[in-house]
Parts: sequence; structure tokens; C-alpha cells
Amino acid sequence: MKPIKDNIQTGSICVLGIGFDQNSSFQKGPALAPNRIRESYFSSSSNLWSEKGLDLGSLHLLYDLGNIDFKTDVDPFNQITNSAKAVLDQGNHMICLGGDHSITFPVIKAYAQKYDCLNILHLDAHPDLYDSLDGNIYSHACPFARIMEKKLAKRLVQAGIRTMTGHQREQAEKFGVEVKEMKDGIDWLDELEFEGPVYLSLDLDCLDPAFAPGVSHHEPGGMTTRQVIDIIHRLKGKIIGADIVEYNPDRDFASMTSMVAAKLLKEIITRIHEDTI
Ligand code: MN
Ligand code: MN
Repeated sequence: MKPIKDNIQTGSICVLGIGFDQNSSFQKGPALAPNRIRESYFSSSSNLWSEKGLDLGSLHLLYDLGNIDFKTDVDPFNQITNSAKAVLDQGNHMICLGGDHSITFPVIKAYAQKYDCLNILHLDAHPDLYDSLDGNIYSHACPFARIMEKKLAKRLVQAGIRTMTGHQREQAEKFGVEVKEMKDGIDWLDELEFEGPVYLSLDLDCLDPAFAPGVSHHEPGGMTTRQVIDIIHRLKGKIIGADIVEYNPDRDFASMTSMVAAKLLKEIITRIHEDTI
């Protein structure tokens, strides 16, 4: 992951930091996440090879775009959409490091302009389908309601879910969301298949807090790190972009969770590399 250069070759995989947490309903902290994930990514406690045997340290066409430098006088969501659009318009692939989960809506706005048949696989403890939370329709509890009502994705599959409310169940039905609840296991991985491009939105609280304590909402009964890696490796479909959101350094212990985020980032880069080259 090299720092940005003036001329990035088309077809590159770019990592973009979106340190924005103003739509977090419970605790702030994810604004600090991108740099902490980078530190763990480069930590000498591990190495830069992915499990699939790709040496990310010598991979050409992998760039770190740094973090969005938010201007106070411009709507932050517009800045996110414009930054994402600039990367996609150059013919590059992108992985965004949040930030809270609200960033996925403005990011997907950019993807929807490029892909008219976008699939989304959303891994999360929460469906994030509230019409509004605490009077905020852009809360991190709402992005997938906004995405689906604007028809920015043709198919949304959610997995890891273990906090369904009556309202969100109605919303899922209304928008035709396919929900794989955690209580039903992850056998769905063998059957699920996507046609067309897949965007992976990975909220770190899809993992059990035992594996990823550095998140704002500790929801027991979640996935293991191994299960999430298996999903990244084995999903049937073409992954063209992703985000990793909701890492909260203030809640982490000894960088445990940022190491998980960095590991998942390495595996996602590898998967996008395999699927798009
Ligand atoms: Mn979420
Ligand atoms: Mn969540």
C-alpha cells in the first residue's frame, strides 16, 4: 500500500480513509479508525502476505489515498460521494476505511453512478434499516434504508444480524432485503450466489465482541474472525469494492480489533485483486 502518487494507473486498488463519526448514535470514536487500522496493517508483529498467498508488500497497483480532509463549510456526505466518485471515475477499485456506518450511503451513491446493477453484502450485528434514529435519518443506524429507498442497489443481503426489531423487520420486508440472521448460522455461504458486481460493507460488530471488542455496540453472539475470513474467501460473486466501518479505538484493548480490521483488509484487497484483474 503505497502513498498516493500523482498518476495512479487505471485498475488500481485504492484505500481511502473516511474518518467521520458524526452520525454515531451511542459513542464517538470511529473518526480515529483509519490511521489506527493502517498502523496495524503495517505492524511488524505480522507480515504483508495474505492467507491466499499474495504479497501485498510488493503488489503493484495498490495505493493509499490517505484520509478525506473534511472542509467545515461543505456537506460531509457530498465530500464523501465526490471523493469516492473521483476514484471510481479513474477506473480504480476502492476500499473505504470508516468512520461510522453512515458513510456507506454517500459511498454507495458514487458506486450506483458506475454500476446500475449493484449487489451489496452487508455484514453487521445490526440491520441499519431504521427509517430514522433519534430524529436523524442519516444516523449510522439508517444507511441501508436510505440506499434501498433510493434504489441504489438491486440486491441487498445482510448477514450476522442479531438485533432485529419489529420496525426493522418491516423495513427489510418493504425493501426486499434478504436477511441471514446469526441465529440461523452461516450455512448460507454455500448457497448464496451473486450475479454482477458485489460491494462488501463490513461493520466490525458483525464479529462477536470476544473477537472484536473495539466497537461502540457490543452485541454478543456474533461471528468468529475465521467465519468472516471464510466469507471473504469463499463468497460466490465478484467483489469490486468494500468498506470496513465502526472500528472504535477508544473501546479497543491492545489494538486487538485494529489487527482484526487490518487482517480483513489484507484478505479483502486480495479478493478484489483476484476478482478484478
Ligand atoms: Mn452498521
Ligand atoms: Mn453494527
